Amino acid sequence: MDRLSVAIIGCGPAGLAAGLLLARQGHEVAIFDQFASPGPVGSGLMIQPTGLAVLDQLGLAEEVVRRGARIDALQGIEEHGRCVLDAPYAALGLQGAFGIGIHRASLFDALHAAALRQSGITIHAGHAVTGSTCDASGRRLTFADREPSASFDLVIDASGWRTHFDPAPKGILPFGALWASLPVEPGDPFAGNLLEQRYRRAAQMAGVLPIGTRTEVSMPEVAFFWSLKVEDHAAWCDTPLEEWKAEVSRLWPDLEGLLARITTREQLTFARYAHRTHPGPVGERMIAIGDAWHSASPQLGQGANMALLDAWSLARGLAEGRTLAEKLRLAAGWRRDHVWLYQWVTRLFTPLYQSESRYLPAIRDRALAPLSRRWPAKGIQARLMSGLFGFPLAPLGLAAPDYEGLAASASRISLAASALPQS
Ligand SMILES: Cc1cc2nc3c(=O)[nH]c(=O)nc-3n(C[C@H](O)[C@H](O)[C@H](O)COP(=O)(O)OP(=O)(O)OC[C@H]3O[C@@H](n4cnc5c(N)ncnc54)[C@H](O)[C@@H]3O)c2cc1C
Repeated sequence: MDRLSVAIIGCGPAGLAAGLLLARQGHEVAIFDQFASPGPVGSGLMIQPTGLAVLDQLGLAEEVVRRGARIDALQGIEEHGRCVLDAPYAALGLQGAFGIGIHRASLFDALHAAALRQSGITIHAGHAVTGSTCDASGRRLTFADREPSASFDLVIDASGWRTHFDPAPKGILPFGALWASLPVEPGDPFAGNLLEQRYRRAAQMAGVLPIGTRTEVSMPEVAFFWSLKVEDHAAWCDTPLEEWKAEVSRLWPDLEGLLARITTREQLTFARYAHRTHPGPVGERMIAIGDAWHSASPQLGQGANMALLDAWSLARGLAEGRTLAEKLRLAAGWRRDHVWLYQWVTRLFTPLYQSESRYLPAIRDRALAPLSRRWPAKGIQARLMSGLFGFPLAPLGLAAPDYEGLAASASRISLAASALPQS
């Protein structure tokens, strides 16, 4: 394969994974990020079996399993205590399968440290990309406050949903969410292996996701989230914190202890979500991957996993196609159906959990919940949640990881680390 000079815009999961995979193929990779010191913003996320399959190929699955929290099921309970969502990974029928709740910082650290160790990658912080020009010599990046870059054979847009390269409106969703990472304390009433949610119709949702430990010696944490309409955020900022906490506790009384650990508004980050799909992810010497190609509400917890699959597909396309245009077409083509499917499924499911409709949550609780406990709906629901609906791995030459082996070796390493004297 020809050795390409590649520029990647964005140091998120998509950009870092693509950078690692391409540098390992022998390409010369330069990653540009706007932040003075690249790092993740926000709290936790779910790594699904799809994302774990790519991390496994990168040699990072064990670290992610060790630093994150093993999640065996997603459980949702409505305001009167009825369980209306029970999606165990066991229903996948894959030996020992699980998801991983992880702090964004832990996922970022694993990918970033691997990129720093990998020869052939340079990371340029403080480079806010504003656009790009293409001529016979290649593609250059333009920046907000500096001279254009040298020419690259290929530019990868991994700059997330606010990308400059898709001029279409961003499709901001009416509901966003407040997020906080909070320490776990002994006696907390949460199951360490569940993503738990509570709903009042679809207008209010609180959730707790165990996200493991950020470092070998830090305390385990959970990500707490509370859905909030974008237009109500300003009013929330003016509401006394204790008044808001009382409202959350009315929906989920067991949260009182956790909420007591929120003492300032600054502990909470308000995240907005955009639902959009770039109509043309492939251009001349250019491809969009991850959220820059497609973004959606995190209701199904797929974004980072889709980003990892896109990065893998791109590396495979570069290895297999003859011309650069064909390589990029192949890369996008292998992902297109799965992306389309999940964009639609997420669009359909999100209003069941985040909307002001009275009918949709009633349908969710009275029709979909009982149905989802039956065969074959239980298996379909598990496939949807895990990212495996639509069979995305086979066309990419990926297989589900060896979960039992991963879990066993991650716990062996954790035990060995905890036996070390701590400074
Ligand atoms: C609250 C919340 C919860 C989520 N939960 C989940 C979950 O449970 N599971 C899941 O899989 N996904 C989840 N997601 C989605 C997931 O975070 C994204 O899909 C994922 O981060 C996309 O990765 P990315 O690398 O494409 O983009 P990003 O992570 O957005 O990274 C983009 C990078 O590009 C840089 N950048 C942006 N613009 C420029 C520019 N002009 N110049 C240079 N650099 C630039 C940014 O600084 C950033 O480092 C969640 C998202 C949110 C907001």
